Amino acid sequence: MSGSIPPTFTQPRSLEQALKHFFGYDCFRPGQREIVEAALEKRDMMIVMPTGGGKSLCFQLPALLKPGLCVVVSPLIALMQDQVEALQDNGIGATFLNSTLSGMEARSRETAILNGQIKLLYVAPERLLGERFLPFLDIVAEKLGVSAFAIDEAHCVSEWGHDFRPEYRQMQQVRDRYPDIPIMALTATATERVRQDIIQQLNLRDPFVHVASFNRPNLYYEVREKTKRSFAEVLQIVQQKGGSGIVYCLSRKRVEEVAYKLQQSGIQALPYHAGMNDVDRSTNQTRFIRDDVQVMVATIAFGMGINKPDVRFVIHYDLPKNLEGYYQESGRAGRDNEPSHCTLFFGYGDVKTIEYIIDQKPDPQEQRIAKQQLRQVINYAESSECRRTIQLSYFGDLFPGNCAQCDNCCAKKPVEDRTLDAMKFLSCVARCKEKFGMNHIIDVLRGSKNQKVLQYQHDQLSTYGIGKDRSADEWKTLARSLLHQGLLEERTDGFPTLKLNDRSWEIMKRQRTFEMAVEPKRDVPGKTRSLAVEVSTLFALLRTLRKQIADEQQVPPYVVFPDKSLMDMAEKRPQNLSEFEDVHGVGRNKRDKYGQVFLEAIRTFCEEQGLPLGNAPGPVTNLPKVPDVPSYSQMQTLELHKQGLTIQAIAQMRGMTPGTISEHLVKVMEMGHSVDINLLVEPNRQQPIIQAIEIIGDERLRPIFDFLQESYSFEEIKFVRAWWWQNNVGF
Ligand code: ADP
Ligand code: ZN
Repeated sequence: MSGSIPPTFTQPRSLEQALKHFFGYDCFRPGQREIVEAALEKRDMMIVMPTGGGKSLCFQLPALLKPGLCVVVSPLIALMQDQVEALQDNGIGATFLNSTLSGMEARSRETAILNGQIKLLYVAPERLLGERFLPFLDIVAEKLGVSAFAIDEAHCVSEWGHDFRPEYRQMQQVRDRYPDIPIMALTATATERVRQDIIQQLNLRDPFVHVASFNRPNLYYEVREKTKRSFAEVLQIVQQKGGSGIVYCLSRKRVEEVAYKLQQSGIQALPYHAGMNDVDRSTNQTRFIRDDVQVMVATIAFGMGINKPDVRFVIHYDLPKNLEGYYQESGRAGRDNEPSHCTLFFGYGDVKTIEYIIDQKPDPQEQRIAKQQLRQVINYAESSECRRTIQLSYFGDLFPGNCAQCDNCCAKKPVEDRTLDAMKFLSCVARCKEKFGMNHIIDVLRGSKNQKVLQYQHDQLSTYGIGKDRSADEWKTLARSLLHQGLLEERTDGFPTLKLNDRSWEIMKRQRTFEMAVEPKRDVPGKTRSLAVEVSTLFALLRTLRKQIADEQQVPPYVVFPDKSLMDMAEKRPQNLSEFEDVHGVGRNKRDKYGQVFLEAIRTFCEEQGLPLGNAPGPVTNLPKVPDVPSYSQMQTLELHKQGLTIQAIAQMRGMTPGTISEHLVKVMEMGHSVDINLLVEPNRQQPIIQAIEIIGDERLRPIFDFLQESYSFEEIKFVRAWWWQNNVGF
């Protein structure tokens, strides 16, 4: 650890040089340079930047360029540790003092500080103001000088913020005790009111204020319709994006289910929700941060205080409850500013679920707010406007639109005249006497022969089967569009029923036309970087190497190198140390520390590949096939069966019919899982069924049933047939 700084770096002209030397970055992010300059002028500061904006560098770089110690106040111990590790990995003298250290360890760190080996010291607020620490700081101030106080998560000081912490209030003492030492307040979430409050509470003097836009230009936003194929789409995103990602779900059950299905599809995924115990949760979290697993499937309990910069995608498999939550959760993608993907699956079923949850709230005022927030989410999802414009307007940021980085801007939805279809749909509602819901109307239009249609003799209606040319999903979209445009109404008296209004009749009388936005064909979602196959192969290889090194050092992989550095290496394929230094994120220290190993890996790769040239675009894949694996519910049945429970007992436990449980077991057998057949069919009844199958054939059940003279049930036959398949056809 060395904090010695060549004197030339204090010249502003060489700030870029200092940035490259210490952190390996070539240029400042928007705002950073101005902030660093103001910090060098010893000004107080109020910095508001969205997550991932690069706040830390704003106090870290000045700390390295100024004499003395910079004290960083940070409320989260885990984050403290992360930042210190990352700094140390850059060869920068940094350490922390908090309650996790033994007395001896703390004293040895204090000695290092007094010896001038440390430029950045991280402390928790309660520590800073403790009786022991301030006298120590007096000595430091006297002997070495304190260059600044950086107060991270500064919104905690304000009661108007969302995360008020009383111990932050005491921070004023610092100003009183050290009036000449500049204070820098930093936060990611602050309204004007919170900002003013922070300035007042910390007693900042004529602060340099920087409020960055909440726009996150590297994030691509899209909304997809939730359909039966949604899971396959999730799988496709996971496979195509390659890096780490988070899938958010509304309930614990859904989390377990999606994690299970991803695992079955060969993806390294883990669940995370409030129903798990602390140990499991924190183990899963660490495994995600360390890249042991690719995907975290989680409720919104996951993510707060997690500082993983290389999350490449965030998928909301279920609808978020409000837009601010969505901004924060999706904002966990791409903190390293690399292109990342945010997908929201939107289905009306979710709207119903959330409405139900809202209705359970006892306080009418709370209900009203929740409903309004839900309305905003729906508007976001349904809108054909730029997604950024909608999100940012929520924070009072004006964004002109045309961001070129959202689904709506990339593919303006064409509008089509669909008056004829609307007439068909509405007259079908009329023929059914306005007594039925959407699905039934669609069944009639599409000429379904289901029981309900036949029972009401709706197959006799003149509108029966006139909508066969469109799929049920297409009709649903049309019906919803009619509802949104106020051309049709839905009432819920027990169950939802479609009703006509004056405008519906105007359409049927051809006094009004009907237009709606239609989905463009979705091939390649968004603007994704299509990589040469070689680049992505090398990238994957370098990730593995990074993971090994990180594990040896017991740090998260991104501490060794961010994704961008590996990508840059994969593209540039440096052949020697000086070329290696041109790679993004490689400073002196990392060059010396990791250069040889990475060069070696790249060299080997190039030899094996015969130095590939050119950038062939990656293959465009169709939706992946979701492997034929048991559903989560079927697996639960199988587990209970393996514990020796009878079908009856399982049915009772799970609140399902015995028939459903039998079906589960047959299905899992057909997919190759072994069950105890003797628990399902009495041993002496198995052989006759096998004989029948061997004589009659295994295709249809009825002939087997008849052959056995109806003395064996269909259920028994199904079990034995599945067992026979397993043992004869060779799974
Ligand atoms: P915040 O605290 O604002 O959420 P961080 O300070 O953690 O953000 O920075 C987010 C990521 O961006 C980190 O991985 C950091 O190393 C990286 N970063 C910061 N500044 C730059 C820069 N000028 N060039 C490249 N990467 C940067
Ligand atoms: Zn846009």
